[in-house]
Amino acid sequence: MDLGYILNQLGEERERYFGAVAPPIVQSSIFAFPNVEAMREGFRDELGEHVYTRGNNPTVEILRRKVAALEGAEDCLMFGSGAAAMSAGVIASVAGGDHVVCVARPYSWTRAVLKDLLGRFGVSTTFVDGTDTGNFEAALTTRTRLIVLESPNSMTFEQQDLAAVAALARARGIRTLCDNSHATPLNQSPIALGIDLVAHSATKYLNGHSDVVAGALCGSSALIRDVFRGPYMTLGAILAPHDAWLMIRGLRTLPIRMQRIATTTTTVLAFLEGHPRVRRVYSPRASDNPQLGLTERQLAGASGLLTIELATDEVAAVERFCDGLTRFLMTVSWGGYESLAFPVCAVFPRDAPLRPPQGVPLNAVRLSIGLEDADVLVADLEAALQRL
Ligand SMILES: *Cc1c(COP(=O)(O)O)cnc(C)c1O
Repeated sequence: MDLGYILNQLGEERERYFGAVAPPIVQSSIFAFPNVEAMREGFRDELGEHVYTRGNNPTVEILRRKVAALEGAEDCLMFGSGAAAMSAGVIASVAGGDHVVCVARPYSWTRAVLKDLLGRFGVSTTFVDGTDTGNFEAALTTRTRLIVLESPNSMTFEQQDLAAVAALARARGIRTLCDNSHATPLNQSPIALGIDLVAHSATKYLNGHSDVVAGALCGSSALIRDVFRGPYMTLGAILAPHDAWLMIRGLRTLPIRMQRIATTTTTVLAFLEGHPRVRRVYSPRASDNPQLGLTERQLAGASGLLTIELATDEVAAVERFCDGLTRFLMTVSWGGYESLAFPVCAVFPRDAPLRPPQGVPLNAVRLSIGLEDADVLVADLEAALQRL
């Protein structure tokens, strides 16, 4: 299936709605049946039929089919956030007494569901440095049921060898779940590499317009049915039809946005790597990244995330840099049409030490490259670096 078909045709039944090119927003919580037998049929398959919008809504279903096809998965469930999608994937995979192995420094709410929420229900988690596949193997116990991956992660971009981890898990009957938000389905296909479940914060590149919070979870029909009957229907963290419609629209331009972002990011990366006021650049494609070989093998193209460590040990100087940016909006999240800057120091008190025991130093700023011209972004960064 080619990309154009997935994005423009798949799941759309235009003849059923007046030939409308854009799909209708089926803003209905419930769907009525002509007779008892039809209703009985509906209950037999709430995931495939239309009974209640907490289960399956026609507008959301169009999006499900497109995202599943992009990931090379049999099925997909959409959620009201990426955090809900990851949580559902985890909750559907473990029971009290089970053990999980998770990559070190995952997205903060992935850590929270494993450690804080499921920790209260007797699920234990070991966090390991995922850059060495051997660390996963060493952490396995007889109770390990799930391996949680995030490759690359969204701050310092460490990667895991997905095929190697998948093979290791499959041989032992352990399920794998990978957060693929950073790479997008265009640049990395975890399912083709043997991963069981793939999650997205669709808030980021998939929607790409900073106007919807959404999540996706993709996998085999059997696994997705399991998640549907479990956390999906139970927790009810659904994507509303209107937001699904916005996401379908956002998705139409995913390939062209990612192409443009990749080109611009390559230019910005080269500029930052050569700049005397930048101490270090984190990127899967940074010239000093020890995982460049894995990047070559596993990531088809560049995303727009870069983290820089400024050549200063003073938070006040970091603030001067960030406050001096005029084209990068200062905020959380990433993956939109607009360039963003996220200063790590903003989440710490003013007098915090520069190098916290865990994670990145406070002179780090994450950039998300958007659709602006590369020379505009480079000029903005240059001007802000001069304020350091
Ligand atoms: C943002 C993010 C999430 C959570 O997604 P939401 O849509 O904000 O709930 C999960 N994983 C990664 C890598 C993220 O960046």
